[in-house]
Amino acid sequence: MILYVYVGILGAIFASFVNVVVYRYPKGMQFVKGRSHCPYCHATLDWIAMTPILGWFICKGKCRYCHSTISLRYPLVETMGAVFMIMAVSCFGLTVQAICISIIFMVLLCIAWIDVDTLWISNDFLILLMILAVWLTFYQTNLSFMNHLLGSISAACPMLLLNLIVKDSFGGGDIKLMFICGWMLGMPCAVVADLIAVFSAGLYACYLLFCKRIKRYDHIAFGPFLCLGIVISMCYGMQLLEWYLLW
Ligand SMILES: [Zn+2]
Repeated sequence: MILYVYVGILGAIFASFVNVVVYRYPKGMQFVKGRSHCPYCHATLDWIAMTPILGWFICKGKCRYCHSTISLRYPLVETMGAVFMIMAVSCFGLTVQAICISIIFMVLLCIAWIDVDTLWISNDFLILLMILAVWLTFYQTNLSFMNHLLGSISAACPMLLLNLIVKDSFGGGDIKLMFICGWMLGMPCAVVADLIAVFSAGLYACYLLFCKRIKRYDHIAFGPFLCLGIVISMCYGMQLLEWYLLW
C-alpha cells in the first residue's frame, strides 16, 4: 500500500511536468528550463502552488497573486498521472518494463492534452513514442514479431480505410499514433484499445450533440480517446477481453 502512495506521488510530480509541456510546447516555448508562472499575471509560482494536486486545492483554484481562476485541468492531469503510474506498477511490478510503460503513459498524456487544445498530434511526440516502443519490445517476451506487426496493422488500418471512405474522419496523427501503439500492445490488445477509443469518443460526441455544444459535422479531438484506450488496454486489455468472452 505504502508503495502505491509513493508511486502515486511520483506520477503526480511527472504529470505536473506534463502540464508544463502541454502549456509551453504548442507555443514554441522552452519547457526544460524556466520556473513555472501564472499564465495570467506571470508571477513565479511558489512551492505551495507548485505542489501537485494539493497546491490547486490549497490555493482554492486561484492564483495567489492576481486571483485569476486556475483551470481544474491542472490537478486533473496530475491525478491522471498518479493513477496511470499506479496502474503500471500494479500490473507490471517494480520492473524496468513498468518504468518504460510509465514514461509512455506520460508521453500519451502530453499527446492527449495538446490534441485537446490544438487538434494536432506533433511528430516529435510520435518519434519519442516510437523510440519507447522499441525499448519496450525487449521486455515483451510474450509477444512475437508477428503479434506486434498484427497489432500495428489491426489498430491503424481500419482508421486508414475509413479515412479513404469518409475523408478526414481521422487525423494523420491519430493513425500514426495507433500504428506505433498497436505495435506496443500487440494482438489482440490493439483492437481492444481501438474499441475503447471508439466507444468512449462516441459517448462523448453524443453528450456534446445532446447539449448542443457541437454540430453534426464538427470535429472533436480523437487522440485523447485513443490514449485512454491504449492506457487501459496496456494494463487490462487481456482481462477485459477474457471478461467479454465469458460474458
Ligand atoms: Zn496570477
